[in-house]
Amino acid sequence: MGVDYETVQTWLAGYDSSQITIGVVASHSSLQILHGARQEGFRTLGIAVGENRRRFYKAFPGAEPDEWLMLDDYREMLDHAEWFRSKNVIIIPHGSLVEYLGATNFRNLEVPTFGNRNILHWESSRALQREWLEEGGCTMPKVIEDPHNIAGPVIVKYAGAKGGRGYFIARDYRDFRRNVDIEEEFTIQEYVLGCRYYLHFFFDPTATDGYQVQGRGQHAGKNLGRLELLSMDRRDESNVDEFYKLGSLRDLREMDLEPSFVVTGNQPVVIRESLLPRAFEMAEGTVAASFNLEEGSRGMLGPFCLETIVTDQLEFKVFEISARIVAGSNPFVGGSPYSDINERFMSTGRRIARSIRSGIESENLDDIIS
Ligand code: ATP
Repeated sequence: MGVDYETVQTWLAGYDSSQITIGVVASHSSLQILHGARQEGFRTLGIAVGENRRRFYKAFPGAEPDEWLMLDDYREMLDHAEWFRSKNVIIIPHGSLVEYLGATNFRNLEVPTFGNRNILHWESSRALQREWLEEGGCTMPKVIEDPHNIAGPVIVKYAGAKGGRGYFIARDYRDFRRNVDIEEEFTIQEYVLGCRYYLHFFFDPTATDGYQVQGRGQHAGKNLGRLELLSMDRRDESNVDEFYKLGSLRDLREMDLEPSFVVTGNQPVVIRESLLPRAFEMAEGTVAASFNLEEGSRGMLGPFCLETIVTDQLEFKVFEISARIVAGSNPFVGGSPYSDINERFMSTGRRIARSIRSGIESENLDDIIS
């Protein structure tokens, strides 16, 4: 079940709000988060395994943490909860933290964290994600239950594989059989042909202006908070992105090569402006649906990313959601073509710190922490 909200509120009530420290595992999007925290005037804490990791931050004095917690294993964070709380630490979760701790351990981490930790449980299961996103009005790639029914390109994804590792494309059952590792749990999805856009949104439940998310179901008729679009990226994936240089898929197969989808970097992009209203509609539906996921759900809080493919019919297919900061926001430490319109130099990392800052000032920090 994880740490309950009442307990978190008790911890926060004991915090000295003039001494809040922003804590982050030194990986993923930590340079951006630490830099943003510093811009908003916070003390910072880096959490790392291995001296080399700490040394590396010397290269970025603009983000170097004020203090370090060095561990032998990230799971030791669970044992340091009291120490974190004695230093008024708020942990900012990112993909590596959730991966290193595991979604269940993260829910049990006895330290205030930014956002809604329970949403990450929905994010970590493909089946729950699909239920949530479809409820929010997003169209997802079709799932093929029986591999004998593969008729056209599909992508086979393994459960828990991060960054596309081990995924493969199959055109028919033979292809599938040749490549599949049946020891692993897998999902077969229609391969959607189109261009990928990773949309980085931010939901602020405390703001009453701007693009307000309309509640649904039990929250119908209520404005839930403000939805912002901060930036957009596309991932570099090795080696599929460069495969075309070696010839057709048939040539590649003759050389015994299969495309792979391992993320190696991120590129900034913008989408054609006429697609933005639909992007907001999908994100709004997703946020609204998040309030109805479970009895008493506090919904999506803070940054999240809709991972989409736009087809030549200009339709979005959403293949995944990340309910936290994504590494794709890293190109925008200095702002993006979207965030610059509202305020210059606003990265997602800084936006998180800004949210904590206004929570402190208006004494409603517990609205954005769990
Ligand atoms: P992460 O959790 O790190 O975001 P993941 O391992 O869950 O990644 P996905 O994001 O689901 O993997 O997919 C990895 C890559 O595979 C995508 O970036 C995209 O290039 C490709 N991909 C995923 N689903 C589809 C699809 N249905 N059609 C076409 N390409 C897809």
